[in-house]
Amino acid sequence: TSLKASAERIELPSASNYPDHVTTLQDLLRWHVDQHGDRPHLYVYQDADNVESISYHTLYQQAKIIACRLQDLGIGPGDTVAIMLPTCNAYFYCFFGILLSRAIPVPIYPPARPSQIEDHLIRHSKILQNAETKLLITVEQAKGLSTLLKLHVPALQHIVTTEEIKTLSAESVTSEQQHIGQAQPDDIAFLQYTSGSTGIPKGVKLTHANLLANIRAMGKAVGATSDDVFVSWLPVYHDMGLIGAWFGSLYHAIPLVIMSPLNFLTQPKRWLWALHHHRGTITAAPNFAYELCVNKIADADLEGLDLSSVRHCWNGAEPISPATMKAFTQRYQDHGFAPEAMTPVYGLAESSVGLTFPLKTRTPRVEWVDRQTMMNSGRAVVNSGKAVNVDGSETKVDQNINSLLDHSIPLIGLGHPLPGHQIRIVDSQGREVPERQEGELEFKGPSSTLGYYRTPDKTAELYHDEWLRTGDRGLTMEGELFLTGRVKDIIIKAGRNIYPQELESAVSQLDGSRKGCIAVFASANPKTGTEQLVVLAETKLEDEQKKQQLRDEIQNLSFNLLGIPTDVVELCPPHTVPKTSSGKIRRSACKTLFEENKLNAPQRAVWWQATRL
Ligand code: ATP
Ligand code: MG
Repeated sequence: TSLKASAERIELPSASNYPDHVTTLQDLLRWHVDQHGDRPHLYVYQDADNVESISYHTLYQQAKIIACRLQDLGIGPGDTVAIMLPTCNAYFYCFFGILLSRAIPVPIYPPARPSQIEDHLIRHSKILQNAETKLLITVEQAKGLSTLLKLHVPALQHIVTTEEIKTLSAESVTSEQQHIGQAQPDDIAFLQYTSGSTGIPKGVKLTHANLLANIRAMGKAVGATSDDVFVSWLPVYHDMGLIGAWFGSLYHAIPLVIMSPLNFLTQPKRWLWALHHHRGTITAAPNFAYELCVNKIADADLEGLDLSSVRHCWNGAEPISPATMKAFTQRYQDHGFAPEAMTPVYGLAESSVGLTFPLKTRTPRVEWVDRQTMMNSGRAVVNSGKAVNVDGSETKVDQNINSLLDHSIPLIGLGHPLPGHQIRIVDSQGREVPERQEGELEFKGPSSTLGYYRTPDKTAELYHDEWLRTGDRGLTMEGELFLTGRVKDIIIKAGRNIYPQELESAVSQLDGSRKGCIAVFASANPKTGTEQLVVLAETKLEDEQKKQQLRDEIQNLSFNLLGIPTDVVELCPPHTVPKTSSGKIRRSACKTLFEENKLNAPQRAVWWQATRL
């Protein structure tokens, strides 16, 4: 499983100037096949211990087989093909097979455990209806569910398993499918459905030109070379794992070591040991994964672990906690982890994947801003690492429950726009605001999507002149981005801004509540029409007295933190709070459940359960 044998440096054309004819993902793969086809491109964990390597050549050959099979099934240029597979060799072959047919891959996540089939079915039938997929590629175990899906998707003609695809022999593969013509840089390369945090997932159209621009810019930002080794357990059906890890590695000739999300989530130590064994230099994960490495790995399992090879741990895709970054760094510093390797980043599917990255290697930047000013006027006044108390005295700020009760809000520096990209902050009238003033974040650049697939109304909402709306709120300081929350989730009460994730993370720290399973949202009182502040918190507590105690604590916390009491504290059993497949809280779905009085049924479909087939 060692990468050493293959780790000799490859001289790539300088990252920004591949030969002119390399303008699509297909061209990129062919270029690697011509230059060094036998070099391993992917190291895929088949299970916890077995790793299989796939060379550029093998990937290309296998993809050609799939492309022929797809042609037999009548799939041609512009057709959409859904891939519903866990991380496995076949996923990569199918993705490129679809590209070689000039069809459009639509990656979706594999079905959830039985109790979540319904949620999976509802979300996925909407995605497949929107994408009008003609074909669905999946695994044997998911065929039953796929047949159900087919009932709801009129365009869907075929369901094929990876086993069935394999039955075509390699001999019948023609050398190249010239007659279907070359893909063009402005063709849609694939459809990236958004996580669906704020509603139904939207199909972001990403062209080859978008993707190449994004992976080129991200590589430039981190100085990627073929000496790097990328280690990832991220799902391959979503942008960070698919574009950031896979396509990024493909572009920069970086070997990618990849395991399934389930492999990591059942034993988080496997991620760290993979970094150790393969001398990983770059990796990426949402904040919760770093949290698992702090809480869910025993000291005994870390003996001999060496993380000194790691240059960048990208932390993004969901709100980042300064406490998690600090705890992770403290714990793993003894294992050679460099504090400046922890790299907060920001992005969204509408910008391919990455939008802002730190300009240089540094320890994470956290600014503590005055809470009152922020809530009242959206202005960020930095408390220079100290919290200013009401009496004017200063307290050293530490990210724990006490500091949350202090008078500062921590904001995390997410870096500057990638080279060639721009961001700006606008007010509710769409006018650009000065630095340190909070507002809505907009962006533009070569990675920007042309819009959502077959959804003209959402596409129209996405644009503000030539800028694209992110749906996120934030501000800049010295050109660096700091996020404060989502436009749809922010609560305005008594003229003040309430950032739900702040109260959620404070409530998370109370005994009896379940970390990461809290939702804060506003709901109009059915009788009076006034907005109420609602805290929905999962708990395992059953004793009514203890539950009442938790409700009281949440009330106190809300009042101390925000100066506003919570109108409704609703405790609910584990797995009630709806989340996206990537584990993000769906606050508007929470609100609907609350308003429709449907809070008792378990809802959650998270990606690690989703990958258990
Ligand atoms: P939908 O658009 O369907 O509601 P989504 O916005 O969660 O779902 P994605 O494009 O997968 O779909 O995720 C991008 C979003 O993730 C960003 O708009 C932002 O809200 C959040 N995000 C990404 N990086 C960070 C970060 N570093 N800190 C906080 N939030 C982040
Ligand atoms: Mg979004």
